[in-house]
Amino acid sequence: MKIAILTIGNELMSGRTADTNSSFIAQEANLQGWSVEAMLSVEDNFASIKSRLNYLLPLADAVICTGGLGPTADDITTEAVARAFDLPLYTDEKVLNHIKEIFTQFNLVWVENNTKQAMFPRGAEVIANPVGTAAGFALQSAGKWIFVIPGVPRETRKMFPEGVVPILRREFPQNEQYIARQTIKTFGISEAAVDKSLANIDFAALGVNIGFYPVFPENHLVLVSRQTTFKAAEEKLKLAQDEVAARLNKYIFSYGEETLEEIVANLLKEKKLTIAVAESCTGGLITNRLTDVAGSSEYLERAVVTYSNAAKVSLLGVPAAIIEKHGAVSEETARLMAEGVRKMAGTDLGLSSTGIAGPGGGSVDKPVGTVYLALSDALQTICCHYAYRWDRKSNKLIFSQAALLMLKRYLQSEE
Ligand code: ATP
Ligand code: MG
Repeated sequence: MKIAILTIGNELMSGRTADTNSSFIAQEANLQGWSVEAMLSVEDNFASIKSRLNYLLPLADAVICTGGLGPTADDITTEAVARAFDLPLYTDEKVLNHIKEIFTQFNLVWVENNTKQAMFPRGAEVIANPVGTAAGFALQSAGKWIFVIPGVPRETRKMFPEGVVPILRREFPQNEQYIARQTIKTFGISEAAVDKSLANIDFAALGVNIGFYPVFPENHLVLVSRQTTFKAAEEKLKLAQDEVAARLNKYIFSYGEETLEEIVANLLKEKKLTIAVAESCTGGLITNRLTDVAGSSEYLERAVVTYSNAAKVSLLGVPAAIIEKHGAVSEETARLMAEGVRKMAGTDLGLSSTGIAGPGGGSVDKPVGTVYLALSDALQTICCHYAYRWDRKSNKLIFSQAALLMLKRYLQSEE
């Protein structure tokens, strides 16, 4: 089955908005085993929309359109599609009532323009919008399918998989396949090095596709296995996963969608351990990530950003003489910060960071990108030293990554 994607909106053509809907839809289509023949963007203009539809329809079995379903005058997609196929518009009472209910529920003022969002070309199948007011629709014409869904990415991400995919699977049953999918997250290895390490795996022979998604500072791999039975799809996926694991084992920190902070949070909760954090160069980023996870109060007792030497002395009890002798960015200081914050907070663990994010402040001994991370429990303190080479923001992010990874390894070695 072949699809084409048409994203509609003046904001796309002016460059103000980057078209993320196309890449989302393309990824989802690929998962289904459908090929994407073309992706186009077009302004909110009757003639342009018609001409782009006419261009795309011969290329594919279905054209997926997003955008231009809003209540305002510049949103004209529904009418443009109706005109392109010479269809009159009708008002769907069910959709109209649904929109009115939303307005009542949120105490919004009703403007007549809103009825526009309940109008569809005659013969269209309405696609419900569970997360907004603009419903979408599907239309069949001369053996081709045209789908129209809202442009708001949050709505596209809901309505394409839940509204469009089921109709296409219904209409093109010969494509019925079982899909098994596995995300593998790595850190500490470049995309090129990942690619090279996996070069001699014959994914095609296994019937598995592999996708690379760099999400700095991580590199994610997605394995997709497509077979006629679910069991076969799972088996092939497992074979491919084992091949990947054999080559990248030491860089893999997650099999699945979980973030590093979620993994750490779950381990802390599982082991019923509490933690306190003392951050210098990361400026609170480690704590920010730990608190991104719901329920973080179960394990995080407190965190302090001790940026100056004075703060390290007065808030953490690091002796001024140690900082004087070894420097604020040193193994000694990092260890005493972690021990200090653990004792002050009375927690099981203390975690610290001290380093040089750059661009200034580096030296020959301790260049920009140097970081010391320490983790203290009642019996011992461990310290890791790394030298990265990124810009300031990237360094901060990668320092926080290394800190969370150190914590993860510690928690797993306890098992
Ligand atoms: P709604 O009625 O819910 O507003 P809509 O179909 O009218 O939906 P638009 O007005 O076209 O949606 O766009 C709404 C928002 O979605 C805008 O902020 C726009 O920048 C964004 N958007 C539209 N199309 C895309 C796209 N292809 N990729 C990413 N963002 C998009
Ligand atoms: Mg628009």
